[in-house]
Amino acid sequence: MRTDQGQPIRLEDYQPADFLIHHVDMTVQLFDGRVEIDSVLEMERRPGRGTAALLELEGDELELASLALDGSPLSTDRYNATPDRLSVEGLPASGRFRLAIGTRLAPEDNTKLMGLYRSSGIWCTQCEAEGFRRITYFLDRPDVLATYRVRLEADRSQAPVLLSNGNPAEAGDLPDGRHFAVWDDPFPKPSYLFALVAGDLDVLSDSFRTLSGRDVALAIYTEKGQAGRAAYAMDALKRSMRWDETRFGREYDLDVFSVVAISDFNMGAMENKGLNIFNHKYVLLDPDAATDGDYAGVETVIAHEYFHNWTGNRITCRNWFQLCLKEGLTVYRDQEFSADERSRAVKRITTTRNLKAHQFPEDQGPLQHPVRPEQYREINNFYTSTVYDKGAEVVRMLETILGRDGFRAGMDLYFERHDGDAATIEDFLRCFEDATGKDLAQFALWYHQAGTPTLTVEDDFDPARGRLTLTLRQSLQPGAARTGTEPMYLPVRFGLVGHNGGDLEARPTGTAEVVDDVIHLREREATLVFEGLSARPYLSILRDFSAPVTLRMDERREDRLALARLDPAPFNRWRALSDLLGETLRDGARAMQAGRPAAFGPDVASIIAATAADEALDPALRAEAIALPSETEIARLIERDVDPDAVHAARTALLGQIGTHDADLFADLRERLSDAGAFSPDAASAGRRALRNVALGYLSAAEGRPDVAARQFETADNMTDRFAALAVLCQQFPGQPETEAALAAFYTRHRHDPLVIDKWFAIQAVSPHAGTLDRVAALAGHADFTLRNPNRARSLVGSFAAGNPVAFNRADGEGYRWVADRLLAIDKLNPQLAARLATSFRSWQSLELARREQAKNILKTLAESNGISVDLRDIVDRSRS
Ligand SMILES: [Zn+2]
Repeated sequence: MRTDQGQPIRLEDYQPADFLIHHVDMTVQLFDGRVEIDSVLEMERRPGRGTAALLELEGDELELASLALDGSPLSTDRYNATPDRLSVEGLPASGRFRLAIGTRLAPEDNTKLMGLYRSSGIWCTQCEAEGFRRITYFLDRPDVLATYRVRLEADRSQAPVLLSNGNPAEAGDLPDGRHFAVWDDPFPKPSYLFALVAGDLDVLSDSFRTLSGRDVALAIYTEKGQAGRAAYAMDALKRSMRWDETRFGREYDLDVFSVVAISDFNMGAMENKGLNIFNHKYVLLDPDAATDGDYAGVETVIAHEYFHNWTGNRITCRNWFQLCLKEGLTVYRDQEFSADERSRAVKRITTTRNLKAHQFPEDQGPLQHPVRPEQYREINNFYTSTVYDKGAEVVRMLETILGRDGFRAGMDLYFERHDGDAATIEDFLRCFEDATGKDLAQFALWYHQAGTPTLTVEDDFDPARGRLTLTLRQSLQPGAARTGTEPMYLPVRFGLVGHNGGDLEARPTGTAEVVDDVIHLREREATLVFEGLSARPYLSILRDFSAPVTLRMDERREDRLALARLDPAPFNRWRALSDLLGETLRDGARAMQAGRPAAFGPDVASIIAATAADEALDPALRAEAIALPSETEIARLIERDVDPDAVHAARTALLGQIGTHDADLFADLRERLSDAGAFSPDAASAGRRALRNVALGYLSAAEGRPDVAARQFETADNMTDRFAALAVLCQQFPGQPETEAALAAFYTRHRHDPLVIDKWFAIQAVSPHAGTLDRVAALAGHADFTLRNPNRARSLVGSFAAGNPVAFNRADGEGYRWVADRLLAIDKLNPQLAARLATSFRSWQSLELARREQAKNILKTLAESNGISVDLRDIVDRSRS
């Protein structure tokens, strides 16, 4: 066990390592139940750091088997080895030396899935953030960069495929049915990018010719019999490689690029140099098993990990505080890729929805932290929506402020100046300052100040003078992270929409700089005046969600309705409608909580009908625009004393009212949008299915009967339509015979596909009814359920805790109690997974009193449990604060 109790590590304490590791020569011998690792580290003291320092290498649950310096075994008085540390003294004062370290591992027993472990018989690794120290003693930190040569040996029948980072160098036979392969990685890399894979795998092969004419061999490895399901991932990979060349001028650098799909994996995927390892959920697809959302997800994750080759691998992070340097930037890049490959407006809508659903609650609750944290106890708990998604928003604002060309010039300079470096956020921002001459000191606050700024906008129109005055104010409330509240640099994209649609050409004067359609708000308050307007225009503000803020504006209902019809910016048509629906539901839920009926005006159903029927809009956009906000989104708008039952009741009532009002239209849409030919996963076809399935939800609510959904479930020829129908059945008609029959048929049809069985568990776990808890508790005893596989644990426990506000937040506290018991069980196997699932408690302070008390008590019980991991303790302690 690790002995440290999770003392905080602080950015201000950063020191470079006293030693350098230039090269690692590693031999890995794989046997059933045992792996022997022999590494030779070519090292020297960092010049100018003195000769006294002891070498202290990190370990984690390691056992030292041998230790030698320049070929001679070291006597025991020269070193001290514990499971988590190896200290060596008396090393040469100058020049290079070779330290040979032997360790022995049992990957079959590694349930934490960090370091080297075995999944379905396949040996594989996960080293980010601190997994390499579970393989051998090392300076396991991202600023120690070395080249690697890795020799793998295994039984040929057990592991015909032997992979590591870099290019293949040698391979051949050994006695006793064993064989070997040697891999050479010429690019210096930190240990967190190390990977190896060995096993009996199928492969899908292809090739790619780079812009400069080099041929790269591409391979996607899967478990036996699954390679045919990797075709879409391969296609996405080739499109990603081409896109990075054309959009950012970045070419791939090795002779081979491989992806391996693994079934037991803690996260989505990992960008190890030249050898990406993926959760198989993000590789394997076919129309009978995967939804349109799964196809889009695979494309995004394949692109994301590939793009890391430049933003993360060639330029890495100096320390883990800089995690957003690689993650925020790479998320921004994968979002741009998806926007270019699919619909830009729809991509921006789904990104904004995701940000508000996940990052905003984190930023406004006890787990709040800045995009670049200044301290942590367990780095694995900082792979958060703030670091990833808000980190991407910060990069996007940089592009908005500097313009496309200025941004590209800064990126070019970053690649040129820092290739081969372990860099910082300051290095990154300096490149944009040097390339454009712009001062980004105030902009840098986005990395330091936690919390969601509030942007308040007031408009005042003087009809006699044809003058519109806008007042913009920004504020930031101090939160759990206790960071500063200085005014930020907010780029606010806007338009003034005329009464016949279309943007008016009106140049403002005032106290904030306005460049094209962007207000550069740097002060706490600014005023802009537009003259010469013949009538009051509709203000379309914060287009494309140009800054991640909470917008407060007394928008007139008629303006919202007009913008939902007229705004030439498709994103803001969605926003007008989405805000209207959100506020309608917020007010409805508050009324119901107070014992009054929710009153929804008929104009809501009318604008939904007008939008749904607007053939000028892409079906995917229409589907996003007319879908009601989720219960979590509505709860966030209520802010405090939330009663999840009232939220659910209000949403159900509005769904039924709109469904009834527009029933003929929805029936007609379903008819006209049905697929004629064979299934195709392209964006246009997916958009039609999305709109058709939103219409299914409304129609079913109007009828109050499961017939339409049950019929779609039976006749669907693809997973998107089948699963959408099953979702409507579970959400609106729990326990009814049609729903039970569909669940049973779904299980029988897909019982041999674990990825689909994950969906089967998840869809039952999110059914928004108090009785779901009993069902979920029973499912935990199902023969197919296990806490050892992260996807399966997430499908039931994670879906219930994070995706079912009604049942998780049951007033009697039983939902919390059940989840807490599962967390303690998971923590014994896989602390990282337990900590991640525990973040579902992050919004407990916004609930009404009775539930708040229940949640508080459960968190206290968790905190007082014996022997919980550093990972879980960190989340529980911070959630209680
Ligand atoms: Zn990443």
